[in-house]
Amino acid sequence: MSGLAITRVGEEPKDAWEYHNIYKLFGISYSNFFCPYCGLELIDKCIYKDEGEYVAKSPHFATKKCETHDNDCPENTKYNKENIDKLKTYYAKRGIRFPEKFIDPPNRENIQKSGVLSDSIDNIKMAIRQNASALKKRGPITPRTFLCQSLARVWESILHEGYELQKEKKWDKNKFNEWIKKGLSSIPLVLLGEENKYSNYRYAFTSPVYPNFSFYKVYHFEGTVDEVNDFYIIRSALISKISNNSNREKPFKVTICKKTILDNRNLYSHIIEDLLSNSCSNNKPIKCYAIGKPVESNGIIVLDIKNTNRLYIKYLNK
Ligand SMILES: [Zn+2]
Repeated sequence: MSGLAITRVGEEPKDAWEYHNIYKLFGISYSNFFCPYCGLELIDKCIYKDEGEYVAKSPHFATKKCETHDNDCPENTKYNKENIDKLKTYYAKRGIRFPEKFIDPPNRENIQKSGVLSDSIDNIKMAIRQNASALKKRGPITPRTFLCQSLARVWESILHEGYELQKEKKWDKNKFNEWIKKGLSSIPLVLLGEENKYSNYRYAFTSPVYPNFSFYKVYHFEGTVDEVNDFYIIRSALISKISNNSNREKPFKVTICKKTILDNRNLYSHIIEDLLSNSCSNNKPIKCYAIGKPVESNGIIVLDIKNTNRLYIKYLNK
């Protein structure tokens, strides 16, 4: 299993998650992938379709039968083993990579389009190897994502795995909580460049009960959707508690302007808009994930979304 690939010589290497996001946002797919270090041809896995709700298989690249990376290639699994063990995560040990950085997406114009190979595979491989030494010196490349949906899938997968283990091993609540805490803390996650000692999945995900006005967080909650003038309003079923000023309780809501959705003009925005409008007209409860820093306004905690990639919603199975 490898994570990195390029689609042509000299291109900036991207992780499989990033190719997956480019497809989901812009519908751009590529037919040829190569290892950016040794030029080996790679096969895409789980990049153009989601393998169920959880990431039992995250987006990755496989090698063709009987073909392997060069011995000294950083994408070689043997070479990677030591680094993986050092991470000591439950998932990394199985070779599953998760996004460790969340950034906003580039403009569609800046994304390399799919093209036809203009040279033989052997020549491409040779050219990639000639370019590889500078790349190797740069060190490992962190998997990153542009979509809140990818982070939500990872977080839910870890929780799901915790519940499965709890059932199987008959863990009590403390053992379960300890496993979840350790699992989520062991996977780094930097939101929109805000790196600090708490940059991991455990601290990044939070409920609206204790909103943080200083740092980016992924707020997750169940709620309902309303349409008010030019906005969709997602109201949290959980109330925020503000610790200053004598423990006041305040409603929490996520807002997104319809013009924002239009301006984003990508496939993901259309999906979000369909979900919001459908949930609103049919009064369907939803689970919401939203990345941002809320503000207090007229007695309400408001998180306004300026880019649809920072939002993910789905219907509740109720
Ligand atoms: Zn390689």
